[in-house]
Order: sequence, then C-alpha cells, then structure tokens
Amino acid sequence: MTSLKTLCVAATAVFCLASAVWADQKSDYPVTPVKFTDVRVSDCFWRPRLDAARDVTIPDCFQKCEPTRIPNFARAAGMEQGPFKGIYYDDSDVYKIIEGASYVLALEKNEKLDKYVDSVIEKIAGAQEEDGYLYTARTIYLKYPQYKPLYTPPGAGERWSKPVGNELYNAGHLYEAAVAHYLATGKRNFLDVAIKHADLICNTFGIDKKQNWPPEHQEIEIGLVKLYRVTGDKKYLDQAKYFLDLRGRSEGRTFPMYGRHYQDHQPVVEQTEAFGHAVRAGYMYSGMADVAAMTGDESYVKAINAIWNNVVGTKLYVTGGVGSTRRGEAFEDSYILPNDTAYCETCANIANVYWNHRMFLWTGESKYLDVLERSLYNSVLSGINLAGDHYFYPNVLDAPNGRERSAWFGCSCCPSNLSRFLPSMPGYMYAVKDDCVYINLAL
Ligand SMILES: [Zn+2]
Repeated sequence: MTSLKTLCVAATAVFCLASAVWADQKSDYPVTPVKFTDVRVSDCFWRPRLDAARDVTIPDCFQKCEPTRIPNFARAAGMEQGPFKGIYYDDSDVYKIIEGASYVLALEKNEKLDKYVDSVIEKIAGAQEEDGYLYTARTIYLKYPQYKPLYTPPGAGERWSKPVGNELYNAGHLYEAAVAHYLATGKRNFLDVAIKHADLICNTFGIDKKQNWPPEHQEIEIGLVKLYRVTGDKKYLDQAKYFLDLRGRSEGRTFPMYGRHYQDHQPVVEQTEAFGHAVRAGYMYSGMADVAAMTGDESYVKAINAIWNNVVGTKLYVTGGVGSTRRGEAFEDSYILPNDTAYCETCANIANVYWNHRMFLWTGESKYLDVLERSLYNSVLSGINLAGDHYFYPNVLDAPNGRERSAWFGCSCCPSNLSRFLPSMPGYMYAVKDDCVYINLAL
C-alpha cells in the first residue's frame, strides 16, 4: 500500500534527478540509479534503521575493531609493537566500516567521525609497504619475529598465498572503501593507498607476469571497477576482466583450478548454475555485471542470467536468502532448502541484493527488484536488530529453541558488511533512464 510518506520520499527523489548521474564514463549500465545522497528518507520504517546504522552500528563496529583489527594496522606501520591478532583477512572488516562511515559523511558533515576515520586511514597508510603491498598478517609476521603467532597466517611466509590467503579479497574492500571515502570527502589520503595497491596488483597479476591465477575469494573485481569509475584508468577494468576470464580455465595459469566451491570449475561465461560459497558467488556475479556494463560484453550477462534463473527457480528461500548449507557456507543442490539448518549468511544475502540490483540496471526489469526487495526486507534486515548492535551470521527460518543475535563474531564479516550496506540503502530506491523514473522499493 502506498503511504503518504512513500509519496513524500518519491517527490524528494524526483526533485533530485538532475544530479543522478555517475561520473564521466562513456559506458555504464543503461539504467542509472538515483544516488543515495539524493534520496531523503523520512518514513517510519527505514528512517529509524538508517539512524541506527549511523549512530549505533558504525560506531559499534569501529569500537569492536579497536582491540584487534585496528591495532594490526598500527603494528604493521610500526606505530606500536605487538603480534598480529585475529584472523588473517580481518583487515577487510575495517575497510568495510570505513566505507559505511564514508556514506555517512557523504550525507552530512560530521567532524568527529571524519577525524576518527582519518586517524584509522593514517594507520592503514602506514601499514602499506613501500611497493604498495598491504596485508597486516604478513607484514607484522615478518616485522616482529619475536611475536610468533599461534599459527602461521596464510600469506605470512610469502605473498599471494592461495587458495586461502584472501589478500585479493581484502584488496576489493580496500578499493571500495577508498572510492567511497574520496567521493564523500574529496580527500585523497585513502584513495592514494588504494591506487598504489591496485597498481601493484596490475603489475603482479597477468599474462606473462609473476602471478597467473584468479582470486580465491571474489570481491576485487567489484573494487577494481569502482576504481576505474573514479580514476578513468582502464587498466583497472582490464584487470577485473582478466581475473574473471581466468576462472575455470587451466591454460595460462601457474596454479591449478580451485574447483566448484570457488566458482572456478568452468569459464564464467559458460556457467549456468550457482555452486559453492555463496558470498564469493554473489560478488562474482556482481563483478561480471559491472564488467559487462563497462565493456558491453554481453556474454557475462547471458551467463549470470542463466545462473539467476537457476537460483530463483531452485535455490532461493522464501525470505530471499541464499546459500542453504553451513558446509562451506554454500549453495546446496537444487531444492535443498531446509528451514532449521538454513545458513543464509547475511553477507550472501547482501551480495544477492548487489547482484539483483545490477541485473535490474542492465535490463530495467522489475523481476530482479522483486528478488532484491525480498532479500533486503527479510534476509538482510534479519541480520541486525532494531537497536543496530546485535547481528545474525546465519539467518535460519526455524528456531524451535529460539536464537539470539550476537554482539560480535570472531569472523565478523556480516556486521561490517551491514555497516557499509545500510547507509547506502536509499540508493536502491529509485532509478532513471531517459525520461523514465523507476520507483523500486515500496514502503
Ligand atoms: Zn558474513
């Protein structure tokens, strides 16, 4: 039912259509989203949730990172001494929270937050090695041999460990966060770190280069396209395409294929079914859509359209959740959708929103938004409480003995993902193409 508040929100967005244009790219999605900064949300459903994300979730996530993840950067930078703490890919959480904080800064002035974010960026920049490499687990391990960790983190011995190092996964979140920060503040302090890192990646990975294998956990493809959008440097787009095209092929690689769990069993343009780790899959399909939008290569779209039919027809919960098994946080076989053991990781459901939004931007078709809406309202928002400080990692559909959200997790990819997703949510509400306005989300 359309409420008066819905109409008010819509009116605000239409008023802002003139500025709903992405930066000076020659090629992009045919449908253009109205930027989240041009949508004023004042309703009684989203407004409290967006306020909680700004006032509670982002500060909460930063605070939870203060004992371990942020000191890892300071230690790698030599600003303080001590061992690496946490899980080897934890750097990515800090990047995601900065991305969320940047969206908040894009919406309104907040000197305290701006200053705090700059202080974290200073540590990140300090942790970056001379040639652009940035991965605190390894830098600390080599810098302070006296703090021998309980285990040797992947990547600690040599750079670019595979298939579990997640160095390239971290990189994707670094780029996304740096672009968001630059667009919000106009400051280059974080963007320059990302560019230096991406240049190292471009010089290291490629045909006839030292490393010839695709990321074990997709995400860098999305980040590289964002970096391309903001810098106009095509090598970042080419690198994203290179990583995608290398998957599922044995030729031209110095490391064997990882297999189906990593969506590395078949060339991406030949894949027709969703397999394996659901977050990796969702990010990969989103990256394929992005590269297709920027290059016009429709073979990616043909593949992700087939995969979309497979997911929506056989592997999607009624809640819009995806990835039904805890084993490998993965897609199960078709029609295996248990309620009580449903996994439906919050990150996978966010990835499903990203993917479906991109499918809509390609086609303008509402069926993608139906899936987006179902996931957003049911299996993304279920991942966080109304107060904004407790989280679900799996989102089960049946909990006979009850299930409580947690304040944090050892692996906290889901809270940090929510912290970056929610502030930008208004960007999914409206879109434009020529003289058409799309009103995508009903309140
Ligand atoms: Zn997660």
